[in-house]
Amino acid sequence: MKIHEYQARTILRGRGVPVPRFEVVTDPAEARRVAEEIGGMVVVKAQVHVGGRGKAGGVKLANTPEEAEQHARNILGMDIKGLTVHKVMVAHAVDIEREYYVGIVVDRATKGPVFMVSSEGGVDIESVAAETPEKIFKLPIDPVQGLTVSQAAQLAAHLDDRVEVVGQVAPVVTKLYNAFVASDASLAEINPLVVSPDGKVWAVDAKMNIDDNALFRHPEIAAMRDSADESDELRKAREMGLSFVKLDGNVGCVVNGAGLAMTTMDLIKFYGGEPANFLDIGGSSSPEKVMTAFDIITSDPNVRVILLNIFGGITRCDDVAEGLIEALEARPLSLPLVVRLTGTNETRARQILAEHGMESAQTMDEVVEKAVAMARGQA
Ligand code: GDP
Ligand code: MN
Repeated sequence: MKIHEYQARTILRGRGVPVPRFEVVTDPAEARRVAEEIGGMVVVKAQVHVGGRGKAGGVKLANTPEEAEQHARNILGMDIKGLTVHKVMVAHAVDIEREYYVGIVVDRATKGPVFMVSSEGGVDIESVAAETPEKIFKLPIDPVQGLTVSQAAQLAAHLDDRVEVVGQVAPVVTKLYNAFVASDASLAEINPLVVSPDGKVWAVDAKMNIDDNALFRHPEIAAMRDSADESDELRKAREMGLSFVKLDGNVGCVVNGAGLAMTTMDLIKFYGGEPANFLDIGGSSSPEKVMTAFDIITSDPNVRVILLNIFGGITRCDDVAEGLIEALEARPLSLPLVVRLTGTNETRARQILAEHGMESAQTMDEVVEKAVAMARGQA
């Protein structure tokens, strides 16, 4: 789950990271009031779940409260990479002398957290990684040992050679790491971490992604969810406990089990088709879940056919077949459906479907080939 900059700032500030004073507002007049309270130069920042807000015109400096109000008026309602801005942050603007990048991600290769720092901060780190990877210093962290004092010093020394600055950056990276671990984050970054002309270090941006599977133990973070940034499909899927990832193809997939769902997508590709989504309806394939899955998929205008691929282990195929018939009678589908039900009681299931004029394929190859052909308009 993504959280907003202001929420990540709150988490980091709670751990003692130096964060400039800020408030979040939803209308221009409030922005003016906050700018008056803060005094001096402020920065008005769009709160949306995307990076590169600065380049998109979503981060503006203001010298006066009137200017802050004007910027807030322009930024609120703005579209940034497809997301509408509903909130802006008004923050004390720091004078910037140097901009650094510090971040942590979970790394597959080292199977643990990896710290990344770069003296090329402020800009989008992906382009630094692509164009000048030598400018990013990476340090894998042993998750059991955690970030050691000497590693924190090493990271800080990589960024700046002034003792007073290193002395401030080292505790910031330690606090960032502690926040990352304590929040079950999959990513935590400060870009830029700045040094002002008076030699003081500040986190002027903050980003954290939280592992969805750990949200149950962080109710205070789960409550930070902003569904304004979530599509209706994703919200429905989440509320029903479905794992759904939208893709660009035209073969809609409803599958039970993540492994089977991925295999189904591989096979669609193998037969020259393109999956419209990944969708795992989970172990139990209750009719409500299947219907919700159908709703989500039919709302995608690209989809030409729905492929239902269920393996009946503990779930019995005949139950699934009955549930499916019931559900389809209650709410007929607007798209063609191809079905494969296999496993426990599959013969009975096939019989039930046949009684209602539906077929169930025996093999994966059969059903996938058929779905791909239908999506092409060839069957
Ligand atoms: P992003 O573009 O979404 O990553 O948003 P940032 O919060 O990183 O802001 C983009 C850029 O705006 C930063 O790299 C800074 O150059 C500038 N900026 C942000 N906050 C401040 C501030 O407090 N003072 C000054 N002078 N510039 C700022
Ligand atoms: Mn940034």
